[in-house]
Amino acid sequence: MHADVVVVGGGVIGNAAAFYCARAGMSVILVEQQDILNGTSSACDTAIHLQSKSPGVHLAMALNSIKKYPVLQKEFDIDIHFKITGTMLAIQREEQLEVMKSFAARQQAAGLNVSLLDTVQTIAKQPAMKGAELVGSTYCDQDATIHPQNLTKAYYFGAMKYGAKYLLHTVIRSFRIEDNCLTGVDTDQGMISCRWVVNAGGVFAPFIGKMMGLDIPIVPRRGQILVTEPVPKLTNTIVNCAKYIAAKFRPDLLGNSVEDQLGIGLSLTQTERGNLLLGGTREFVGYNTKTTRQAMVLIARHGTAIIPALKQINIIRSFAGLRPYTPDSLPIISTVPELKGLVVAAGHEGDGLALSAVTGEMVSEIIAGQPVSSGIDLSQLSLARFSREDIDRFYRKYAVA
Ligand SMILES: Cc1cc2nc3c(=O)[nH]c(=O)nc-3n(C[C@H](O)[C@H](O)[C@H](O)COP(=O)(O)OP(=O)(O)OC[C@H]3O[C@@H](n4cnc5c(N)ncnc54)[C@H](O)[C@@H]3O)c2cc1C
Repeated sequence: MHADVVVVGGGVIGNAAAFYCARAGMSVILVEQQDILNGTSSACDTAIHLQSKSPGVHLAMALNSIKKYPVLQKEFDIDIHFKITGTMLAIQREEQLEVMKSFAARQQAAGLNVSLLDTVQTIAKQPAMKGAELVGSTYCDQDATIHPQNLTKAYYFGAMKYGAKYLLHTVIRSFRIEDNCLTGVDTDQGMISCRWVVNAGGVFAPFIGKMMGLDIPIVPRRGQILVTEPVPKLTNTIVNCAKYIAAKFRPDLLGNSVEDQLGIGLSLTQTERGNLLLGGTREFVGYNTKTTRQAMVLIARHGTAIIPALKQINIIRSFAGLRPYTPDSLPIISTVPELKGLVVAAGHEGDGLALSAVTGEMVSEIIAGQPVSSGIDLSQLSLARFSREDIDRFYRKYAVA
């Protein structure tokens, strides 16, 4: 077998990379150890979030990516349910207000349409929050929701339409490396010779890296979510809270309470069928995808404090997924000077859906030897941005044996 590009990993990132590479005319084989949607991309929320991105390269990638979904929706054969809903970020305490004001001001400066609302304005926009513990909110009308599984499937069918082949339930035995250059992937279905390999293994990217002699600093960060019975439209936007932003970007600033240690922060979205997805946690518990009673209770308590209308709604199930977390919360989208023919596209933490389109496009442009059309500064996403010291400190703090 031969392909220009072998993509390893059938999540949203691997499929987006396969789609953009195949659409650019490259021959592509995607190798997945199970089936597509085996990992985090089927255990997540539905947000194409801008307000949760830190100003700089993170927000720039999200702003670029979000523009692509309405266009892709027209091109795909599957409905990805892309809908602009806006996001409200609830601010519960005075001490959070200044931090959120400054976060919003930096986002505004970066081109995001965010405004600060007082309590009255917040409840007028979001009646389900009547009676909440609130001092205000930030609101952005540009955020959107999407169907996560359909998004991955749409890339998958789209890639195949452009000729990509899929080897599912396939085990990679080793990578062929000649003169510091990746030239093939040895699988239990046979050897695939290739010019490029894309490591899109999500939280498993470090194991794929290890097979090539590379240290890729990604650790799993568990997120637990409650799912409710279907109900009529509850909120007018996605709802998050200031604590969500703190848990996402500055886990070191969280306190010692159980809530803080679990990284509890509100995320609320509603599916087309009416089920609410109520999250969530940010926990370092290794590759454990179980949900816990303690987190379920605390997520429900935190959610109902911000959206009292939730108290009347029944929970029907729960699930947990593993966010691929890097030392600076930014993905790694990178070639590696010491190993030619490799692109790492992993470590998207809680942003893989939102950033999948720009990531897929960047991977295809890197492989084609073109400048990236999004204008994103690739040095900020490079594997080389982490020193040995950064990586060791990161593992000491967050890796679980
Ligand atoms: C609770 C939760 C909520 C989230 N909500 C959102 C949200 O609202 N918006 C958003 O943008 N993002 C969200 N995310 C983040 C998003 O889900 C992830 O960033 C994204 O799914 C990562 O995709 P991926 O393709 O990198 O990884 P995955 O989906 O995990 O795919 C990796 C694939 O690689 C395969 N693989 C691994 N090793 C090998 C191997 N050796 N050989 C072959 N195949 C291999 C795995 O089987 C897997 O299928 C959320 C995540 C969680 C956990």
